[in-house]
Amino acid sequence: MKTETECIQYLYCHKWPHGFSCPACGHWHAYTISTRKLPLYECSCCKHQTSLLAGTVMEGSRTSLVKWFHAIQLVSDPEHGISALTLCRILHVTYKTAWSMLHKIRYAMGRAEAEEPLHGQVVIHDACYGRPHNSTVFQHPEESPVVVGAVVSDDQPSRIMFRTVPTEWMQGRQILPIAAHSFIRDYVSALSRRSCSIQLLRFAPIRTKIARPLFREACLWLNQTFRGIGKKHLQTYLDEFCCRTNLALCSAPIFSRLSYICAAFGTITYRTLTTKPAISKHEISLKYRTAV
Ligand SMILES: [Zn+2]
Repeated sequence: MKTETECIQYLYCHKWPHGFSCPACGHWHAYTISTRKLPLYECSCCKHQTSLLAGTVMEGSRTSLVKWFHAIQLVSDPEHGISALTLCRILHVTYKTAWSMLHKIRYAMGRAEAEEPLHGQVVIHDACYGRPHNSTVFQHPEESPVVVGAVVSDDQPSRIMFRTVPTEWMQGRQILPIAAHSFIRDYVSALSRRSCSIQLLRFAPIRTKIARPLFREACLWLNQTFRGIGKKHLQTYLDEFCCRTNLALCSAPIFSRLSYICAAFGTITYRTLTTKPAISKHEISLKYRTAV
């Protein structure tokens, strides 16, 4: 899309795929106020005014929609994804803006993934990002343990989910069962929980770790595109990988689906992005309390 007008029409169709719906009363008709740079919509029933960007990842942004959709298109690339350094050169924006845009898109992808629990024959196993080549039984400070979940269909993963694990849930190199139980409770559908297959043993046969090749692909992508990712933001990058991979696995049109996700989920501020830890201590203690 080359013009703001095209982008406005495209975003409108993805924000309200079934036609306008007032966020205050649900009414279907609105008057368009076109005196601003972006149109404003006034509900003909309750007079509530809403903008096209309200409730989307672009809310509060001064970057043009053309640049936003260009960024979404580049994130949609199933082979590579994109780093903030490359994006700021392509879009001619500052590194801070490019970094913030990509993280806002990832945040929406993570929320979309978390809202759709794994359903079907689910296999869960452990994995580790950043593991150095040593054979000790102790965890290296730079290693990030991850629980990998996959829906299996015809012996192949048809949907995946990777979740980082708090260090409190590690013992040596072993991920404790609480991590798997917490994963099942939060990310597996109620109907599929009883039949989950869990492979957390350190020496569990590799062939049972059905999503292992995809996790290795994710590690390769993180190391090649971003030269490695620290623990703080690892989960958001894994969310991006899983969301894009899942769309590719179900042969969905990735750009269109990602545009819908960016239109359906609210934004996160730059301040929150730069201050919020990957998993808050409060979140951990809550998980502890409810999982044991
Ligand atoms: Zn209304």
